[in-house]
Amino acid sequence: MKVDRRQFIKISAGTIGAAVAADLAGLGLDTSAAQEAARAVLAKTGKQTPSICPYCSVGCAQIVMTNDEGRIIDIQGNPDSPISEGTLCPKGAATYQLVNNEHRWTKVKYRAPGSDHWEEKSLEWAMNRAAELVKQTRDADFNEFQELPDGKGGRVKKRVMNTYAVASLGGATIDNEWNYAQQKLMHGLGVVYVENQARI
Ligand code: SF4
Repeated sequence: MKVDRRQFIKISAGTIGAAVAADLAGLGLDTSAAQEAARAVLAKTGKQTPSICPYCSVGCAQIVMTNDEGRIIDIQGNPDSPISEGTLCPKGAATYQLVNNEHRWTKVKYRAPGSDHWEEKSLEWAMNRAAELVKQTRDADFNEFQELPDGKGGRVKKRVMNTYAVASLGGATIDNEWNYAQQKLMHGLGVVYVENQARI
């Protein structure tokens, strides 16, 4: 079955781009037109740094273009990648907007309990406030021992050192290193509920 570029883009809409491209190729579909089109896209001039899309574990390769001031001016698929061959799904193709986006808030906003308005706070204040609340919540609901099934139909008291009062939910833009540190911190605190939105 031959699929032209227009048909390929139609098939890919609403899917996860490179992963689907690989699946289509695996099904015997010809994705060369889409890959050729991706190769033909001209990169904006600037310093080119190879990188990886931060959004999911498919790991599509990107080229990040920066100007003389070190600011990102464009991000495109890297045709040298054996994984994605220059393609990016709609989410990966919009990575540029993760950094450059006039709608992105760059200041900490805080709304106190019961308040009807937001206040601007410093990042240091917000970090201390988050740490204070995590510590307070954990200490108020910390289990040193818990009764658990003993495997023989009875119960046995075991040392667990955990808390069910705090949960951690990661997002797609959290990279490997951050996830590693997050797991270390959460398990050190005794947090049981640790999850990530991008777990595929
Ligand atoms: S989110 Fe990124 S890594 Fe995942 S399929 Fe899309 S471009 Fe590739």
